[in-house]
Amino acid sequence: MEIKQAKSAGFCFGVKRAVDTVYEAAKEQDVPVYTYGPIIHNAEVVQDLSEKGVAIVAEKEDLLRCKGGLVIIRSHGVGREIYDFLKQHDISYLDATCPFVLKIHRLVEKYTAEGYRILIFGDKSHPEVAGICTWGEVRRTDVLESMEEAENFPISKGNEPEKLCVVAQTTFHNKKFQELVAIISEKGYDIIVINTICNATQERQSEAKEIASAVEAMIVIGDTKSSNTRKLYEISKKECKYTYYIQKAKDLDLTKLKSAKSVGITAGASTPNNIIEEVQNNVRNEF
Ligand code: SF4
Repeated sequence: MEIKQAKSAGFCFGVKRAVDTVYEAAKEQDVPVYTYGPIIHNAEVVQDLSEKGVAIVAEKEDLLRCKGGLVIIRSHGVGREIYDFLKQHDISYLDATCPFVLKIHRLVEKYTAEGYRILIFGDKSHPEVAGICTWGEVRRTDVLESMEEAENFPISKGNEPEKLCVVAQTTFHNKKFQELVAIISEKGYDIIVINTICNATQERQSEAKEIASAVEAMIVIGDTKSSNTRKLYEISKKECKYTYYIQKAKDLDLTKLKSAKSVGITAGASTPNNIIEEVQNNVRNEF
C-alpha cells in the first residue's frame, strides 16, 4: 500500500508557538499558569498540560482567581474586553495570539476608525471570530457564514456608497471566501477586501485536496472541535469517497482500508506530530 502523508499536516506556526509558550511557562514559572480557554483543540495536549499544573480558565470573571499567576492567551486571540479586564485587575499575562490573528484585530480597528463598516466571513460561534468582532463597533460589524446570508446582506444605503471592509477568519475556506466576496461586491458598497485567510490553512487545504484526489482512502486527523480539521475533512470527502475523520490512532478502523491500494493522511493545525506518526505507523504495520 502506498501512503501519502501531507507535508503540511499538524501544528502550524501559530499553534506551535502558543503550545511551546505554555510548556515553557509551566516549566520555568514559579507562579500558577493558566490558559484562557484550552490552548488548542486537542484533548491529549490539554490533558498533558493539566498534569503539569496548567489550569484552564473559561470565563472572564474567573480570571480574577488568576491574580498572582500568569494567564496565557491562546493563538485564536481574545476580544478587547479581555485585555482591558486583565490590565484593570493587574493580572499578568502572556499574549500567544497568532500574529496573523493580531493583524486582523489591527485591520478591523483601523478601518472602523476610518468609518468603514466591517464584514467578517467566518464561523460565528468560533472564539477567533468572537474576538475579531470586538475590535469593531457592535452595530457596524457583521459576521457572515453562508451564501444565503451574503445574498440577504443589505445593499448600501444613502447617496454615497457606504464604506465596507471585508476580512475573513484565518481558517475560512478560500473558494467560499471568493464566492461571498462576489456576492457582496454587487451590493453597491465602496468595498475593501482583505483576504486574511492564513497561508498555513490554504496550503493545508490545497495539499489535502491534491492528495485526496489521488488516493483510494483518506485519513483526516484532528479533534472534532477543530474547525480547520472539519474543513479538511469536507474538502477531502469531496475528492475521496472513503475519507475517515479520526481523533487518535485507536479511532481508525483498519479493516476499512483493507482494499485500498493507496492511503492519504492529513491533520489539522492542532494535531500533535506524535499522533500523526502513530497513525502512519499503524497503517504501515498493518498493510
Ligand atoms: S492557522 Fe494560521 S492563523 Fe491560525 S494559528 Fe495557525 S498560523 Fe496562525
